Amino acid sequence: MNAMPDYNAMSDEVFRREVDAFFAAEYPPHLRYLLRRARWAEMKPWWDTLYAKGWVAPGWPREWGGMELGAAKMLIYMEEMERHGVARAPEQGITQVGPILMRYGTQEQKEHYLPRSLSGEYIWCQGYSEPNAGSDLASLQTSAVIDGGDLVINGQKIWTSLAHDATHIYMLVRTDKTAKKKQLGISLVLADVKTPGITVRPIRNIAGHEEFCEVFFDNVRVPYANLVGRLNEGWTIAKALLSYERLTIGSPRRPAYALRRLELIARAKGLFADSGFADRYNVLALDIQDLGSLFGRFVEQVKRGEPLGEDISMLKIWTTETWQRITDMLLEAGAEDGALQGMRDIDGVEADILTSFYYARPGTIYGGSSEVQRNILARYVLQLPTA
Ligand SMILES: Cc1cc2nc3c(=O)[nH]c(=O)nc-3n(C[C@H](O)[C@H](O)[C@H](O)COP(=O)(O)OP(=O)(O)OC[C@H]3O[C@@H](n4cnc5c(N)ncnc54)[C@H](O)[C@@H]3O)c2cc1C
Repeated sequence: MNAMPDYNAMSDEVFRREVDAFFAAEYPPHLRYLLRRARWAEMKPWWDTLYAKGWVAPGWPREWGGMELGAAKMLIYMEEMERHGVARAPEQGITQVGPILMRYGTQEQKEHYLPRSLSGEYIWCQGYSEPNAGSDLASLQTSAVIDGGDLVINGQKIWTSLAHDATHIYMLVRTDKTAKKKQLGISLVLADVKTPGITVRPIRNIAGHEEFCEVFFDNVRVPYANLVGRLNEGWTIAKALLSYERLTIGSPRRPAYALRRLELIARAKGLFADSGFADRYNVLALDIQDLGSLFGRFVEQVKRGEPLGEDISMLKIWTTETWQRITDMLLEAGAEDGALQGMRDIDGVEADILTSFYYARPGTIYGGSSEVQRNILARYVLQLPTA
């Protein structure tokens, strides 16, 4: 990996050509433009290919095996992923756990977890939400009690994406039930999913996919050294992680895929002859362009080492709601072909419209619902009075 070129020193054109050629030649055709979360078993060969090339972590510093791309190069990398329909592998270790350990982890944690997360030996899932703590995450009840050199964890998480593929979970636990503010008694802990006492149970969603799980903790012992940052200070770390997550969800990549499908179907069916349809399509296409610029602005901020502010909620709302509007229009454009799941030939275009529609639905829920994001904007960005 030391021999990796300095991509930031390349011209944008040369870098784009290199990324384009690599994705075109190496990314498996049957995994392009997936309409569901990709599972680890199917993505592992691609991960190995990326790892061999040194391209698993475009944003990580070179010191830890990343590409250390600057903002402009990062956008090119993401645009090319989008164009080639490259699916998100279970990548929380790269996009979430890595940045947090680099900032808050001990040297031992960095040295243990970062290389293994990069190589794909460790696959992470996020254990935040609980049956009574979603939007109001700080109400979480899963507890961790110090016992000798261990933390003993009891409780339940829910909606844990791809927990059944994960080897590890990063989770929020309550470590002080007496804290004056509920946010103050929470810690961030790492656990091996195979630790005795952890049970993972998949949940099937409306599209028929097992995308997320319930995770139960019954007297689970993890070493105290698995605590990230200081005891009872997990909320601050989690908030930083949530901003990164909103940036990832805010990437216009998935709505852009859907828009491309819409364009192909509309062309095949001659729908652009209807000026009402064409107008609505153009508004969405322009929204995708604007989203690209807005996304780029936030990526730039991260690259400069500046923390993301509450205004990242704007990107999360706009991307997920635009995606839903595009898939609503896809459903309309597909007419009877939108009523059944499965790949169909729609006037010469292969598409699974209903699955696309389902796939876009939860975007306004995960990573913090649109209503909650609007509350955040009202309170912290617009500084409107609270009721
Ligand atoms: C596909 C998917 C994947 C997920 N993956 C993960 C994961 O990997 N890890 C994880 O920890 N969690 C995950 N989640 C959970 C997700 O973070 C929560 O669903 C989300 O935070 C909302 O919480 P909730 O489901 O408990 O809904 P609730 O908080 O009960 O909200 C119900 C409704 O009330 C509204 N509402 C709640 N509070 C307010 C308020 N103050 N003002 C206005 N409206 C409000 C909400 O907007 C929503 O419409 C995932 C969810 C989905 C759908």
